[in-house]
Amino acid sequence: MLRGLSGALAEALAPRRCAACEAVSSVPICASCTGVLIGLPLPPPRELPTGTAVAAWEFAGPVRAAIHRGKYLGDRAALTALTALARRRLADRLPAAAGGLVVPVPAGRRRRAQRGYNQAELIAVELAPSGGVTDLGSLVRVRDTPPQADLDEAARRANVADAFAWRGPSLAGARLRLVDDVYTTGATAGAAATALAAAGAQRVDVLVLATVL
Ligand SMILES: [Zn+2]
Repeated sequence: MLRGLSGALAEALAPRRCAACEAVSSVPICASCTGVLIGLPLPPPRELPTGTAVAAWEFAGPVRAAIHRGKYLGDRAALTALTALARRRLADRLPAAAGGLVVPVPAGRRRRAQRGYNQAELIAVELAPSGGVTDLGSLVRVRDTPPQADLDEAARRANVADAFAWRGPSLAGARLRLVDDVYTTGATAGAAATALAAAGAQRVDVLVLATVL
């Protein structure tokens, strides 16, 4: 009884809200938003120099809201719930040639320290195929880059060029899945894929929760 009361009090003071619509919800993404997210159209894949990029959703509406909460407001449960839905939508969307080594796009040291986690790592762990291997530490940022959000496409490319390096074992012949939260111009994923190719990777496919269309 007491425990029930204090639990109810705590919930009344700080009710958990749906990451996508802000409605009071006992789960990170409410049933109504889950239904909407499952029904949204899949963005078309993009062909990249190193492989294929696939996204579970367009970066808009409830997807954008949930990623924002997961990235900037510390709501890891929102990211995990969104990624669990994305996992089903992304299954079988990569070509058969895609590999099982999963690598997240690393965050700069400063941003990682501010947030306490790297959202791409959380997503990568959830998206790893069964039997796949997740390498969370070998692709590194060799310099902190200013936030991309306010830059145009050319400036984004210049901003992240040579920002990444592979510090793990040789990737000769390896096929990887590079994971990030959002694909905007492809500048970040492209620069990371270039670093992986320079370390010997034969193929780099890109998996993201959402893409700007
Ligand atoms: Zn909702």
